[in-house]
Amino acid sequence: MEWADELAAGARGPQVVNDSKTPSGTVHVGSLRGPVILDVIARALRAHGVETTMLYGVDDMDPMDAQALLTPDAVEREMGRPLAHVPDPAGDCHPSYARHFAGIFVDTFAGLGIHPDRYYWMSDLYPTGDLDPYLRLALDRADRVRDIYRRVANVQHPRNWHPVQVICETCGKIGTTIVAAATWAGTPALPGMPSVATPEPASTSRPSEWPW
Ligand SMILES: [Zn+2]
Repeated sequence: MEWADELAAGARGPQVVNDSKTPSGTVHVGSLRGPVILDVIARALRAHGVETTMLYGVDDMDPMDAQALLTPDAVEREMGRPLAHVPDPAGDCHPSYARHFAGIFVDTFAGLGIHPDRYYWMSDLYPTGDLDPYLRLALDRADRVRDIYRRVANVQHPRNWHPVQVICETCGKIGTTIVAAATWAGTPALPGMPSVATPEPASTSRPSEWPW
C-alpha cells in the first residue's frame, strides 16, 4: 500500500493508531472501513520498524437513538439512555445492548485478521475519572467550542450551552438532558492553560421538541 508506506516512512517515534465506534445496532459492511484502514496503517508502521500500539474504542456512553431497533414497549424507556445501560435485545447473556452489538462487530473484523492490541469502553473509562481533566478543559473553554461549532458545522448554540452530556438522575437518559450550565465556574488553570470560564446562570430542562 503506497499511501500507507509513505505515511509510515514519515513517522517519528512510537505511534498509537486509534479508532472508535458507537455500537448503535447492526451495521452495514461499510463500517469495516475504519478497522481496515487502521489495520493497514498499523501493519505499514510495523513493517517500517516503528513501535506501534493499535487501539479500538467503543463509544458505549452515546445515547440510544435507533427507535426502530427497540421493541415498541422499550422505546419510551430506552431512547436517549446510554447504550451501555440499555438491555441486550437478544437476551443472549451480553450485559448490555452495546456489548451485544459491539461484540458482533469486533468478531467480524477479527475474522478478517484485524486484532487491535487493546479495546477500551467509554463506560469503563468515565468512572475512573481519567477523563475529568479533559472535561474540565472543554467546560472551561466552552466559548471556544461553541465558536468551532459555529464555524465548522454552522451550528449556533446558545451562550449558555456547554460541551458536556450528563445522565439525568431521574430518567437515566443522556440524550434529553440539556446542560445549560449550571454551576460551572471554571477550574484553576491546568499547566500552561489559563482558566477562561465565566459563570453563567443555571438551568436544566427537557425541551418538548425531543421526539421521544
Ligand atoms: Zn447479546
